[in-house]
Amino acid sequence: MALGSACLIKYAEEEHYCPHCKQRLSCCQAPPFHVGDGLGWGSEVMFVCLNDDCPLFANSWQRFEEQYGHSASCRYMKLPGEKTGSPMMVGGKDAFKGCIVDPESVRLQSKRFAREQEAAARLESAAAEKNIEPALYLVLDEAAEVASRKRGAEVLAAIGDLACIDPIRNHKFMNTEIEFLANSAIRQVLAANYRKECPACSEIVKSQAKVCKHCGRELE
Ligand SMILES: [Zn+2]
Ligand SMILES: [Zn+2]
Repeated sequence: MALGSACLIKYAEEEHYCPHCKQRLSCCQAPPFHVGDGLGWGSEVMFVCLNDDCPLFANSWQRFEEQYGHSASCRYMKLPGEKTGSPMMVGGKDAFKGCIVDPESVRLQSKRFAREQEAAARLESAAAEKNIEPALYLVLDEAAEVASRKRGAEVLAAIGDLACIDPIRNHKFMNTEIEFLANSAIRQVLAANYRKECPACSEIVKSQAKVCKHCGRELE
């Protein structure tokens, strides 16, 4: 079960310290499986000492090499609710450094998610009122659910408001399918308004214009 963002932020703000080096432990997202015995950690986060100068970490390389003949070390680790932690084997310096829980980014993600939910909930009623805002938001939110973004593109095409064109043109799409749908929505919106885009300056002009009034280019 995924932890709620409020819960994740609460953990990230808890202060725990390493008994070996006295540095504050980093709150990290736990890997899905316990390295070694294949069991889950029973927690989605763990507090880990990521100090490379921590004596436990710095001095364990040699011990592992001597005892087991392979390159590994230990970091001090504590699970939420535990009074004392324990050493956890790591294969390198960078293990866990990529999964530090950053409260600020969790906050941003949950804010984004709330906006997505709100836009998705308003999408159909806004479409009926010819309000492009939720549809446009979904089409431009790369992290939103693909199905809602597709529906957003359909709604934009159906509403036919020229105001959706600039924001789409100014957006760098990461999902090529959505980009394709957004471009086809633009074509439909232009057609519905008897407009076309000038191939030279991208300004919108009347379909029957022979010359672009913005840049002077001759048009077909
Ligand atoms: Zn330490
Ligand atoms: Zn032009």
